[in-house]
This record gives sequence, structure tokens and C-alpha cells, in this order.
Amino acid sequence: MNAIHLKGGFSPRIAGAPERRLRLLETPRHVGMVPEQIPFIKPRLLVDVGDAVAIGTPLFEDKRNPRIRFLSPGGGRVTRIVFGPRRIIRQIIIALDDDERSDAFDVPKLDRLDTLPRGALVEILLTGGMWPFLRALPFMDLADPDTVPPVIIVRLGDDEPFGPDPVVYLKDRQNRFATGLDLLGKLCDRLVIHITGDKSIRSALPDPTMARHFTGRYPAGNPSVQLFRTKTGPEQNRSWYIDGQDVILLGEYLRTGRYPVQRIVSMGGSLAPAADHVRTRAGVPLRQLCGGDPAGKPAARYIVGGLFTGFGSSPDSFMGFYQNALNLIDDGDREEPFGFIRPGYGKPSYATAFLSSFRRRPFPMDCGQHGEERACINCGTCAKICPVDILPQFTMKCLAADEVEEALAHGLLDCAECGLCTYACPSKIQLREVFRTAKAQYYKEIA
Ligand code: SF4
Ligand code: SF4
Repeated sequence: MNAIHLKGGFSPRIAGAPERRLRLLETPRHVGMVPEQIPFIKPRLLVDVGDAVAIGTPLFEDKRNPRIRFLSPGGGRVTRIVFGPRRIIRQIIIALDDDERSDAFDVPKLDRLDTLPRGALVEILLTGGMWPFLRALPFMDLADPDTVPPVIIVRLGDDEPFGPDPVVYLKDRQNRFATGLDLLGKLCDRLVIHITGDKSIRSALPDPTMARHFTGRYPAGNPSVQLFRTKTGPEQNRSWYIDGQDVILLGEYLRTGRYPVQRIVSMGGSLAPAADHVRTRAGVPLRQLCGGDPAGKPAARYIVGGLFTGFGSSPDSFMGFYQNALNLIDDGDREEPFGFIRPGYGKPSYATAFLSSFRRRPFPMDCGQHGEERACINCGTCAKICPVDILPQFTMKCLAADEVEEALAHGLLDCAECGLCTYACPSKIQLREVFRTAKAQYYKEIA
């Protein structure tokens, strides 16, 4: 197995890492989809309030390519569709029946997979709602079914605080994972598995020689960063990637002919009622995942996904389509009297100016900005920490001056959207958000 050490980055010590314990969550009474958090898609609704749906009934399609459909994660009745400004679809909520129905899909026998042309395999994935799990770099949009990628990266392990541990979600599911890998290998020129963290999981792989083990600080587990460091030609910039847990879903779909709804979700952060893993289902309500509202604690910020790249949510919402993690941290942004003369033993920071740099224990993370909006002080921290060697402060200033070409020359498209620069910036400038928005705008213009 190839071992690759990535330089740069930074691994902050944050409290609330989930343990490998797995518990079972009671079946929810309702589940939901959150289309507004699926990047780039233009959803067209295929159901209405009051409609009966089964697991696997199409709920909406992407107007840009109606062959790509998103299926219902539950069987029951559509009880509510929440719209936002300009009729953006925020949530589709389904009350579950006691005896949920599940649509059956026509999938080939596993030993026939080798005999089918690539186009037929693509159709099988499109029909069963599995296609959206494949995403294309560098914009992280849905993969285009009509193109063949040079490489598909399977991500096993994510070092962003805090995502599900592959050791937990692969346990007893290796057969389904192997089936998913088998299918993916037929869709591309080359399939690679990128392991981050515990390399013992390679024993769960059907062919350990396909694996590369990445070490280093965060974001060594980010597929964009891994590609940036290992690509052998510019054509590989169009590679696709998929998360390890979603490969298991592909395998399950092929083996059962049903849309798979089981998910293993991690709970983390200093306010999580239990930092562990939960066996539950797609679209689970966040409040149920937490066992109610965290009592007797400061107000919690619900972050669906990792702490640096996830999206802020509320207990009334649901797990996202791509996210399998919920992190709860202190939502407060309190003033600290005479903060500038305090030694900062309990203040996490990339800089070594505080006594906290001597502390080994993890720090509880909060949403504090430590002051009002402030300008860039040209400290260079973001450039030092960026894993893809772009100069975030100059790129940001180019974008502020509407000099998009110059931002592209600085490497805007290489930005892995890891969020590390935003975390480390002493002025707390939302660099990641600036780059993410600029990349998305550029993508829409060239599309
Ligand atoms: S510029 Fe992009 S890749 Fe670099 S640290 Fe910031 S978010 Fe990460
Ligand atoms: S870390 Fe923040 S303040 Fe420092 S150079 Fe980068 S953008 Fe400017």
C-alpha cells in the first residue's frame, strides 16, 4: 500500500470526538430531505403535499439533467413542503407509515455485472437514485453521467472534526462495500481508495493494493487536497469522488434492488449528549438524533457535517443528503472583559501567542468571533496553513476587486474548501465562504 504524507495543514485540538461505540436509534415517525443544501442542483418537485410515497419514490429531479432524481428516504405520506425565498425548496417532510412500502428496482444479478456495458450500469444507478452520490472535482457538483472520469477516488476516513469512522461503518458490511467497488471500477479508467487515519481498515478491502494511506494534519483526508498532491496530469482535475459509506449503499442497492436508507451517523462536539456513532436512517430529524434539546447547557449550534465544512442547522431540520455527522457546539459569542491582557490558557488558537499552546487537552469549540468585523492584517497565517499552496489573502483581495482572472491565476480552483484558513485567521474573515461562492459563480458562468 502506498503511504503518502501531506505537508501543511493544521489539526486543532477540539473536544467531543465521537467514540467507536455504535448504538441503535429508534425508528423516527417522520424523515425529511433538505434539497437547498445539495450544491448546484435545480430541483423540480415530483410530489405534492398529501401524496403517498414508498421508499424509493422520486421526490424531485435536477432540472439541469432530469435523469438525475432524488428518491424518498421513507414510505408514508408527504406532509409538508417548506419553501424559502424565490420558492427555493427547503424541506420535504414525510410522515412514515407503520408498514412502510419500498419500491423494487430491476437490478442485474451480480455475476452479470461484468457482461453489461458501462451505459447500462449508469442507467441502473440513475434509476435507483444512486447517481448523486458520485461527485465531480473541483466544483463538487453531481457527476455527469455522460462523461468518463480519469479517476474515481473512494474516501475512507475523513479527518475533519468530526465525521463517521470507517472502522465503525465498515463492520459487517464489507461484502456490500466490495460490490460497490466492483461497480465503480467499471465506470472509470482507474479506481483508487484513499485511507486517512486508522490504516488497519485496509484488511476490509477486497484488494488492499488499490489503497493509498494518507497521513498528515487536517485536511489530509480531503479528496481535493489528495488529488492536488498526487495528480500526474491536468486531465485528473476532472476526477470524481465518493464517500466510503456511500459505496456501501451502492453495493446494498445492487444486492437488494431497493433504495438503501440505513445510515451510520456520528455525533460529536462539546455539547453532544453522547459523542458516539448511531445506526439510524437517511433524513433522520436532528432533534431525535440528539434525544431532545441538550438541557442545562448553553445554546447549541447544530452543524450538519464537519465543523469546518458542514452547514448550520436547527433541531427542527434533518440530516443532509451527503452528510453523515452532527456536531453540537456552543453557539455563544460572548465578550471577554480585558481579553487582550489575559494569558489565554483556555483559548484555542493557531498562533502560539497564548498559554493554550502548552495545553495538550482538547478545547471545547464555540462560535465566538472574538470581536467585531475586522480587516485583514496581512499576517500570512492563511498562506502558511493552506494545504494547496494558494495565497488566500491575495486571492480574497482579487475577488473583492472583481479580478476573477487573477484569482484563478492564484489557484482559486485548487481551493479544497476545507475551511482551515477561516478557522486560523485572527481577523475571522470568512475566506472559505468567499472562495466557495466565487468558485460556484465561475462554474455557473462556464457551464
Ligand atoms: S484557501 Fe481553500 S484550501 Fe486553502 S485553507 Fe482556505 S479553504 Fe482550505
Ligand atoms: S489570516 Fe486573515 S488576517 Fe492573516 S493574512 Fe490571511 S486573511 Fe489576512
